[in-house]
This record gives sequence, C-alpha cells and structure tokens, in this order.
Amino acid sequence: MIDERVLARRNEAARLDADDPLAGMRAAFTMPPGVVYLDGNSLGARPIGVPDALARVLTQWRDDLIKGWRVHGWWHTPLLVGDRIGRLLGAASGQTVVGDSASVQLFNALTAAARLRADRSVLLVDAGNFPTDRYMVASVSRLTSLTVRAVPMPELAEAIRETAGQLAVVAASSVDYRTGELWDMSGLTTATHQAGAVVLWDVCHAIGAMPLALDEQEVDFAVGCGYKFLSGGPGAPGFLYVARRHLDRFDQPLTGWHGHATPFDMETEYRPAEGIARARIGNPPILSLVALDAALDVFDGLDLSSVRGKSLALTDFFISCVDEHLLELGFEVVTPRDRVHRGSQVTLRHPRASTIMATLAEAGVVGTAQRPDLLRFGVNALYVSYADVLSAVETIRTVAAATVRIV
Ligand SMILES: *Cc1c(COP(=O)(O)O)cnc(C)c1O
Repeated sequence: MIDERVLARRNEAARLDADDPLAGMRAAFTMPPGVVYLDGNSLGARPIGVPDALARVLTQWRDDLIKGWRVHGWWHTPLLVGDRIGRLLGAASGQTVVGDSASVQLFNALTAAARLRADRSVLLVDAGNFPTDRYMVASVSRLTSLTVRAVPMPELAEAIRETAGQLAVVAASSVDYRTGELWDMSGLTTATHQAGAVVLWDVCHAIGAMPLALDEQEVDFAVGCGYKFLSGGPGAPGFLYVARRHLDRFDQPLTGWHGHATPFDMETEYRPAEGIARARIGNPPILSLVALDAALDVFDGLDLSSVRGKSLALTDFFISCVDEHLLELGFEVVTPRDRVHRGSQVTLRHPRASTIMATLAEAGVVGTAQRPDLLRFGVNALYVSYADVLSAVETIRTVAAATVRIV
C-alpha cells in the first residue's frame, strides 16, 4: 500500500516537472530506459548530437588524411572549443584552451603560477581537494621552492591573511567533490590578491552546472574537465583558463611544439605563441574534442542561471524528500541546506553506504559511494527530473530498509 505522504510527493514531483521550463532539455540526451542517472557529476550522459559529429570527423579523416588539420580546421579546435567553454566560465574569448586532462592542465597552471610569484615561498592548498589536485601540488612543490600548506576550506581565508607576504599561489576547488559544498570564489579570490598572490580554481564540479564569472571576479587561473556536467564523454579533455593580464608572462613547464609561435618552422629553440595559444602542448585528442564540441551544442542559447535555478530546486526537493523518508533509516544530509553553499549534488551519510549504493545500481539508480560512509548523487538539471529524484529517494528507502533488516 502506498501511504499518503508518498502520493502527495508524487503529485508534487509531477507538478514541478510540468512547470519546469528546462524539461525539454532532456530530449537533447539519450540514456538507457529505466535508469535514474544521478552520476552526471562523474560522467555526463550522452548528448544526441555526438554520434553524427564523430561520424563526420571519421569521414574527414578517411577522405582527407593529413589535409584534415587544415581543411577541416582541426588545428584550431583547442582554441575554438576553449572559447565555447569560456562563455560558460564568464570569460571573454582568447583565454581558454582545451586539449589535455584536467590533471595535466593543473600541473601546467600550478607551475606557471608559481613562476609568476618566484619571490614567494608558500603554496596554499585546500586540504580536502580532489586527490589529483593534491598530488600535483605536492609534485610542483618538489620542483619549485614552494612549501605546501594544506588547510581545510573553512580556514582558507584566515590562512591567506596569515601568510600574506610569503604567499605565492592558492589552489582550491570551487565545489567539494564529496560533500557538494560550494565555496566563495569571489571573496577568496579577492583575499588572495590582497595577499599579493595568485589563485588557481579547479571548477570541475561547477562548470556547466552554474554560472561562473571568472573575468568579473578577476580569477587568475582555472582548470576543469569536460566529461562531468559538460557531458563531453569518457576521457573528454579538460580546459585551462589564463586571465588575459597574465598571458604574456604565462611560462608553462610543458613547452610542447603546439604552443610554439611558429610550430611548422620546426625551430631549434622554444618561443611561446602569442595569447592563450601558448598554453597548447602537443597533439590534441581531436576525436574527443569533436565529441566535446558537439556536447557543448546543448548549452547554445542556454542561460546558466536557469540551469542553476533548477539545480537548486531539484536539490531542495531531494533534501526535503530525504528528511521525510530517510532520516528515520539512519541517513544524514551532508550537503549544505543553505543554497548559497550548495553545488549541484546531494551527499548523504549512512554507515552502510557502499552496500546500499551497490544495490541501488542494480535497481537502476546510479550514484557514487565514497568511502567510508558517503553516498553522492549528482544532479544535472538538463536531464534529471523531479520524478527521478523522488524515485531515487523511494528506491533508497526500499533498499536501505531491506539492507538493515538483512544485517
Ligand atoms: C574530476 C576531477 C578531476 C579529474 O581530473 P582528470 O585529470 O580529468 O582525471 C580533477 N579535479 C577535480 C576537483 C575533479 O573533480
């Protein structure tokens, strides 16, 4: 028997979906039937335009061979796709490049940032940052003379003030990948500048899910990936943003021939290209870039504040359904309830997180378990409905009730 609370929630979800101005965006993606996909913050669902775009580039390759670099504009793809991502970053053209993984972009940007502040000694990093970010920071500190100081995000502003004068670089993520907590990019950027340092933001969990304003906030550097909320496909390349004011002094460690001023002259010495082109490295993954480019069509004409609005409404609804149906089963909401500090995911805590997540996947609800006790559910407002969210919560309830009974 379905109780009244469940029926009321189902009516509410149906009403919210019927009134959703973004409901039509779901048709721009294709997914297997019967799946509630709440893992688009790990790998976005496939946009419908990707197969045709890939088929076109495969034909170009077959028919035109090496000429394709010129006649089909493959050479320019890293900067053209960079500018399309730039629009989502709040960045004017000519400051964003795409082509290597977020990890490689991080290494390049961190080292270049350190070189901009060579007279300083401290590299301040978000202690809870994504592993690759922390590993790269550690390696860059071994290569340069910088000392790493890792602090939890809530203490970052204070640490910036304390180290002013010695602080070279601050490296942090705008959204915590585990908890979904959104940090104050604008305030921390300003604080970093007041301390005389430069900031590198990792926006992997923000790009495509909310408006960003890198130019307006005077961010120095940013990196992100193409396969989460941008839905560029497995292994989609990441991007790097370098503020225009730093471009002429941007001295990256990975001086590949694609970043050379005159790459086809095959000069003996490296001379960086003008502008963001100097942040190119070697051959970009054209097939993946073409897939990402096609995925970005979904964002054409789309206002990211409407995406953010729906994302917040979905996570509000998620949290209130959790309060109603899951708290009594031992779940706890980890993601901030306060909208200003919430990214585009809901993270729950439960002692049996990994068993529950594995059973959920069998029931068609896909999220990610994070050791030791977290369950992460990413919400991509372009293809997740209110009915999906309710269905996930109902399934979590059934699965958790059964799991608790079994053990
Ligand atoms: C997903 C993610 C990455 C991924 O790096 P790759 O090089 O693309 O594997 C890096 N940083 C953060 C914060 C992420 O969320």
